[in-house]
Amino acid sequence: MPETIPTRMLIIGAGPAGYTAAIYAARAGMDPVLVSGLQPGGQLMITTDVENYPGFEHAIQGPFLMDQMEKQARHVGTRIISDLVMEVDFSRRPFRCTGDSGDIYLADTVVIATGAQARWLGLPSEKRLQGAGVSACATCDGFFYQGKQVAVIGGGNTAVEEALFLTHHAEKVTLVHRRNSLRAERILQRRLFEHPKVEVIWDSAVEEVLGSGTPEVVTGLRIRHVQSGEVQDLPLDGVFIAIGHTPNTTVFRGQVELDSDGYVVTPPGLTQTSVPGVFAAGDVQDKHWRQAITAAGTGCIAALEAERFLTVEAAPAVTAQAAE
Ligand code: FAD
Ligand code: NAP
Repeated sequence: MPETIPTRMLIIGAGPAGYTAAIYAARAGMDPVLVSGLQPGGQLMITTDVENYPGFEHAIQGPFLMDQMEKQARHVGTRIISDLVMEVDFSRRPFRCTGDSGDIYLADTVVIATGAQARWLGLPSEKRLQGAGVSACATCDGFFYQGKQVAVIGGGNTAVEEALFLTHHAEKVTLVHRRNSLRAERILQRRLFEHPKVEVIWDSAVEEVLGSGTPEVVTGLRIRHVQSGEVQDLPLDGVFIAIGHTPNTTVFRGQVELDSDGYVVTPPGLTQTSVPGVFAAGDVQDKHWRQAITAAGTGCIAALEAERFLTVEAAPAVTAQAAE
């Protein structure tokens, strides 16, 4: 039987932003409800070493960090529900969100913390060979390439980390980037350039992922030099796409203001969206930094802003309704 769940604060998303918002909201006595979506723990669930989250002398594992955040959020009183928000109505308060389960969430305030997901090149061959040698997660699939030849596409932190991770398994890792410089952090670039198993191919765009056999598997990559136009086929066993992310905002389209890339628009340093009482935190509103710590930081701000909204700027609609 679908349930109606009233709450002073609904948090949509269970990454660093959502859990941090939950911890602050619960400790402020707001009895938050957090809906965790299809990836409880968020993006860090698909990575291994996290070296830059403060508080740990040595590298920790992404899933360990997220497990700790979940436990802390529960411990301080967050109700965590496994559901996917499919539809929202932010036109009036209490805000109404409908889950895949059929449950209705009636919320005085909402924190959108739905993060982002991996982007693909959009080639038919890439799609056809997904799971047959094309992947967007080296930490998930790298193990299958022991002693093999793989390529990573992209020039950001993810691409470089994926390439370095793959050196643990593959015999050779080729990083293919469309420009002649990387946007990854310097320390990661240095590790990449110094690694004996890594080759970098600059100024090259992927034309096609090559495959053969029955069932078809990846056999190579056709790339084109962006200046000379020269086409080259690289023999490969696996291709890892690491070209960035798209914010998870489809469900909020037409409800809050989004920018041209689909990110939720918030003022600098704040988390208020175009709808008073609806806040956004983490990668879903931050296309520049996209770090666990910045997501956690904005999650904190969202909870504090939401609490302030309820106590100073607006009467709590759910509480008022419950009293009727
Ligand atoms: P996410 O972590 O993306 O979480 C989003 C949450 O929203 C998920 O729980 C999802 O299930 C939920 N959700 C989505 N849609 C819905 C919906 N409709 N209904 C309900 N729930 C929904 N950062 C670092 O600081 N250090 C690192 O070492 C590092 N390594 C990384 C390695 C990789 C491979 C990747 C991809 C990223 C890495 N990052 C790292 C970046 C970091 O993971 C992100 O910045 C951070 O996870 C963003 O947190 P978030 O809470 O905004 O969103
Ligand atoms: P990103 O920083 O946006 O980099 C995406 C890369 O892919 C860029 O080099 C881009 O090229 C390239 N690219 C984009 N579209 C392409 C296309 N169609 N064809 C070919 N190449 C394409 O994304 P990210 O590396 O996934 O990182 C996302 C965020 O997470 C960043 O803020 C990053 O700092 C963070 N992160 C942090 C860590 C860490 O701190 N250790 C680890 C992983 C991720 P151009 O350079 O030409 O634009």
